[in-house]
Amino acid sequence: MASSVLSSKKSRTFRPKKKWEKGTMKHELHKKAKASLHSGVDLRAAVRLPPEETYNDWVAIHVVDFFNRINLIYGTVSDYCTDATCPIMSGGQKYEYLWADTDRYKKPTALSAPQYMSMLMEWIESIINNEDVFVVQAGVPFPKTFIPICKKILTRLYRVFVHIYIHHFDKLVVLGAEAHVNSCYKHFFYFVVEFKLIEGKEFEPLQHLTAKLCY
Ligand SMILES: [Zn+2]
Repeated sequence: MASSVLSSKKSRTFRPKKKWEKGTMKHELHKKAKASLHSGVDLRAAVRLPPEETYNDWVAIHVVDFFNRINLIYGTVSDYCTDATCPIMSGGQKYEYLWADTDRYKKPTALSAPQYMSMLMEWIESIINNEDVFVVQAGVPFPKTFIPICKKILTRLYRVFVHIYIHHFDKLVVLGAEAHVNSCYKHFFYFVVEFKLIEGKEFEPLQHLTAKLCY
């Protein structure tokens, strides 16, 4: 029984990465965004919009990449993040996050951290695979709601960092994943700050970490 619960949880947690189809402009852009990370290491500069790219494309590529990476990062600690260890989706004593969507939870609802993560990843996945929102074809305009939707996705993804850093940091260290998570965090932070995609108050739970890592 326990193992079947675990495996069903796992199958929801480890999602296939969304990939941009080879040969498309988005795929080229994805490769470029990735390459710039390896060469420079100056993440603050790497997030800036290249003059030849459009803002919406640049945001789309990054939202998908961050989703893929943060989803994997959560996967590394998900065995230790259970309904028992984390009955509340929180960032310490002071911050608690409620889940709401337009489907199952119309009112903000307290969920356990793994339940929240599962809803979150499912929700993001359905949006980034919706080609009316995450437009794939060159020349097709993004909807007006695109940036507000991306802001919401990034705000919620930030909470995954909050939860992991505050509640599962010891496991990251044991697993040897700390440096990797830190560099993903920095990249994410510089990106959302560069384009003002997350409200300042969201950063409060990790302000000390951010001061240490990013400035
Ligand atoms: Zn947890």
